[in-house]
Amino acid sequence: MQKMALLNQIHDFIEQKTVFNDVTFHGKGVHLNKLATIVIKPSLKPGIFFQRIDIPGSLPIPAHFRFVKNTNFSTYLEKDHVSIQTIEHVLAALEGCGVTNAIIEVDGSEIPILDGSAIVFYNELIKSPLRSLNQSYPIYHLAEQIIVETSYGHIKAWPTPHSYASFHMTINAKNRFGDKLGHQSLSYSMDQDFKNIAMARTFGCYEEGLLMQQKGLALGASLDNTLVIKDHDILNPSGMRIDNEMARHKILDAIGDFSLFPQKIIAHFDIYNGGHTLNHLFLQKLDSLKISKDI
Ligand SMILES: [Zn+2]
Repeated sequence: MQKMALLNQIHDFIEQKTVFNDVTFHGKGVHLNKLATIVIKPSLKPGIFFQRIDIPGSLPIPAHFRFVKNTNFSTYLEKDHVSIQTIEHVLAALEGCGVTNAIIEVDGSEIPILDGSAIVFYNELIKSPLRSLNQSYPIYHLAEQIIVETSYGHIKAWPTPHSYASFHMTINAKNRFGDKLGHQSLSYSMDQDFKNIAMARTFGCYEEGLLMQQKGLALGASLDNTLVIKDHDILNPSGMRIDNEMARHKILDAIGDFSLFPQKIIAHFDIYNGGHTLNHLFLQKLDSLKISKDI
């Protein structure tokens, strides 16, 4: 009976939509500190694809969780030895706008970090109406609870009666960020204003940033693109942009990472100390359960 319900619900669809015109962004990557230009282009093919135009003859990299190679401090895709890094914020912006189809041309190996949030991507994307393609894009209504746990956090996902995903995000990291900043909690539904999620910047500890830079990561991180916490206080002169900015950013990352599933996932997510690795583990578990049910 449960199998029937699951299969019935898999065959729900939304309309495929793509951008009307090319949308261009330029800037440095937060990890490699290298300049890159990306052009989000209309596409008739369902899904999002990254095309490395600086590597002649390379094939597009699908924004699909099976091509996730690394989840350390960003989400990193690789296919046929061609890679693209820090894809999560632009993917979240596309998801927040309702874009299902696009080709993202990029002339480097990392997506620009811009201001550390997704608001620059989002504000530019919503300037033009999307193009409806009169084709269906699959959605996946979760039919049973799925739990993924690690030593530091969890994702619990439940079926929802709504036609959109919702999130409850908790960060509990008082040891890293102190009592004032180290506990943040926020609920958000995809029917609410996405700007309140898109504007939340990436964040980190000052000392951890220095250690990352010794390992060749976060080379482009600065107060212009990262909310930096030092001695349990915010180093950025203007402080947080919005309440619970860190929890909001974790929701933003989850929205971007979950869009790597080939169907739009409709569920309620309760996430505790989430991150790219947990997000990826969730997609792998969802996929394995779905396959076992489909057989
Ligand atoms: Zn992020």
